[in-house]
Amino acid sequence: MVIGGGLAGLSSAVALADAGFRVRLLERRPFLGGRAASYDLPGGEHVDNCQHVTLGCCTNLSDFYHRVGAGHKIAFYDRLVFVDSAGHRAVLQASPLPPPFHLAPALALYPFLTWSERRAIGHALMAIVRRDQRNADDGCAGTSMLDWLRRQGQTSAAMDRFWRVVLVSALNAELDRLDARYGLDVFWKAFLSNRAGYRFGVPRVPLGELYDGCRTAIERRGGEVTLRAPVRRVRVSDGRVAAVEMDTGQDETADIYVLAVPHDAVLDLLPAQMTGEMPLFANLRRLRVSPITGVHFWFDRDVMAEPFLTALDSTTQWIFNKSRLYGQPGGRYLQLVISASDGLMPRSRQEIMDLCLAELRALLPATRPANLVKATVVKEAAATFLPEPGSDRWRPSQRTPLPNLYLAGDWTATGWPATMEGAVRSGYLAAEAILAAAGFPRQLVLPDLPAEGLARRLASHVRRPSPPC
Ligand SMILES: Cc1cc2nc3c(=O)[nH]c(=O)nc-3n(C[C@H](O)[C@H](O)[C@H](O)COP(=O)(O)OP(=O)(O)OC[C@H]3O[C@@H](n4cnc5c(N)ncnc54)[C@H](O)[C@@H]3O)c2cc1C
Repeated sequence: MVIGGGLAGLSSAVALADAGFRVRLLERRPFLGGRAASYDLPGGEHVDNCQHVTLGCCTNLSDFYHRVGAGHKIAFYDRLVFVDSAGHRAVLQASPLPPPFHLAPALALYPFLTWSERRAIGHALMAIVRRDQRNADDGCAGTSMLDWLRRQGQTSAAMDRFWRVVLVSALNAELDRLDARYGLDVFWKAFLSNRAGYRFGVPRVPLGELYDGCRTAIERRGGEVTLRAPVRRVRVSDGRVAAVEMDTGQDETADIYVLAVPHDAVLDLLPAQMTGEMPLFANLRRLRVSPITGVHFWFDRDVMAEPFLTALDSTTQWIFNKSRLYGQPGGRYLQLVISASDGLMPRSRQEIMDLCLAELRALLPATRPANLVKATVVKEAAATFLPEPGSDRWRPSQRTPLPNLYLAGDWTATGWPATMEGAVRSGYLAAEAILAAAGFPRQLVLPDLPAEGLARRLASHVRRPSPPC
């Protein structure tokens, strides 16, 4: 039984069904996808909970989409466009140079920083390449990204107009609240080690349509998917899960249980004595959360030609042209994303709309004469756990002390931050643990993209000590 139909629950359920298990998946809400879902607004519009993007380095998410027949529903782009409030633009696109230098020409031409700032960024990127990539515990864990960047001599302009632009949206935390290890990994995996790592994957369809094949994969093996099925509590007896109690009061049983709900929901579902005494569960209280805000705007005419833009120097961080991404002509429907949006949480939806609309009018001249037809704001207060320095040690493994209980979720120990890739890895890891315990060990988690070209040689042959954290 898998409890929770987000990416972690779906990926474990589908992998176990593929391995021959009969899986019952229970999801509280009327749709699948969890935080990466889409749904109807009261006004009738079908919207993503928030724009979700993947990267070329997300090997397991890609594997999952292909397993459920959704691989072709993701469009990949290799050209990222940055725009500042004065309308200046920069393009990040790979050159023919081998990794880790494939993006170096784009960085050299990056117009928002001085030449010496760009050179300092180059040095810091080389320090990332020279880290011992095979040694995850290289002393950086526990240091903030801001401290690491300061030690690399980065100016505040370089932080704001380069490092922050990438990392705050990738990791949903400001640089001072971000464990350096996560930040360094993002640059290594996405921008330095492999030419394909930074390719930007955006769904061509509403998020909900990515999961159409999950139900089929589960039902093909005699399993079932039940929506609107909230579990009220997990009953534990004699050191094992005995049953789950549904909201209706009815008990449901299975041989093996995967709890694939958000980490705070785990604490609500398990017996209080257990979550108080067992460090694996008790430590979940130490994981803090971080918000993301999405703003949807519908205009009366086309206002944007590009599929998406990255904004500098504004509250708005990304602008997605949803019309174009869905293959419709023009660009009337835009979605804006603001990660680590703590500052917006106390503000009213109207204030947030006004702020973002004013920024949009500065960034995109075509919006100035256009009329806003509709708008909505989605605030996700607990979008992801906060990857603050040292937080990794509070993330539990997918195995628990209870022999028939496993955990899955982007907050479990995957080595990845809270992303769709992290959620799928956790689902695959839970399925691997179940298969191993059942006597059918199998590797489901795919490795990262291999380091290519000079990146491989530099990372494996330059045996200098890791840059100090
Ligand atoms: C606004 C926003 C933007 C994001 N953008 C990106 C992005 O661009 N790229 C990216 O990679 N990641 C992004 N993420 C992160 C990504 O969505 C998550 O990391 C991932 O979806 C988490 O999946 P999960 O299965 O671990 O958890 P969830 O998606 O939270 O799934 C848990 C499921 O459990 C269900 N559940 C809870 N309690 C019960 C119960 N008692 N009984 C039954 N079911 C229950 C929930 O309804 C939910 O469906 C974003 C997240 C948010 C919120």
